[in-house]
Amino acid sequence: MTRRDALREGVRILAEDGAGATDSPSLDASLLLAAALATTKEGLLASLPEPVPEAAYAAYRELVERRRRGVPIAYILGRKAFWGYDFIVDPRVLIPRPDTELLVELGLSLGDGLGRPVSLHEACTGSGCVALSLALERPSWRVSASDLSLDALAVAQANAASLLSPTRPGGPVELFQADLLEPLEANPGKAGIGYDLVLANPPYVESPQAVDLSTQWGEPLLALDGGADGLAPYRRLIPQAFVSLAPGGWLLVEADPSQAEALAILFTEAGFSAIKSEHDLAGLARVTLGRKPWAT
Ligand code: GLN
Repeated sequence: MTRRDALREGVRILAEDGAGATDSPSLDASLLLAAALATTKEGLLASLPEPVPEAAYAAYRELVERRRRGVPIAYILGRKAFWGYDFIVDPRVLIPRPDTELLVELGLSLGDGLGRPVSLHEACTGSGCVALSLALERPSWRVSASDLSLDALAVAQANAASLLSPTRPGGPVELFQADLLEPLEANPGKAGIGYDLVLANPPYVESPQAVDLSTQWGEPLLALDGGADGLAPYRRLIPQAFVSLAPGGWLLVEADPSQAEALAILFTEAGFSAIKSEHDLAGLARVTLGRKPWAT
């Protein structure tokens, strides 16, 4: 069988009525066939008349079947691109979303604007995609990240090992287990100076929806479930971040666009100033941020 025929077959299976697992059957089939052939999508498309060896074909059919059953493509491939880097992902972590790149973009510009060596912490890091992208873009920044899930931390650690230079000037990215910012609240910045940036993409989906999403796509419920109104993590995180930040430092949190107003109130109540929401590529209020005033 040629690669072209295998691709057609995969597309047909994934596009079958009732499969419904994907709205991009051609893209998915080519990514899966490329993975089974240990090549890239581009390599595959440049070699469509060539044959598919039997073992690769069997592997491909297995991957297509998993996709047909609804397993996200990122979990099947074990990889997801984020901020131009290739992250290891599996069902222990939320699959990084393009929207979340806004946290990285804003973190870079706010950190650069401080005009001093930056020390940052990311809570609820999951795969580590936000903290590690920042660490990769700014090798001199001191970066740490935490998660409640030891499983997630193992994935973040694997990503740190595969992506970061062991000699980055800012030192290794310190990863540790924490319930939101609890230990930092008691010991801000560990060095006693407080963080310049605190970032988080906490679980923010309302519980019933979070259960549905987690059941449907196999993503960890812990990474999605934000309690009855989706805001429970922020009610603790925002005051904790205020204590953990240095004066002049910034807190940036991702949320559902419908939560932006409630977040602005929580930021205000915690003592933050310069509070605003920034929009993602779809024009939706995705990240809320605020600054810890110099004198409080
Ligand atoms: N953006 C994710 C979703 O809507 C939720 C991520 C989160 O809860 N942090 O599926």
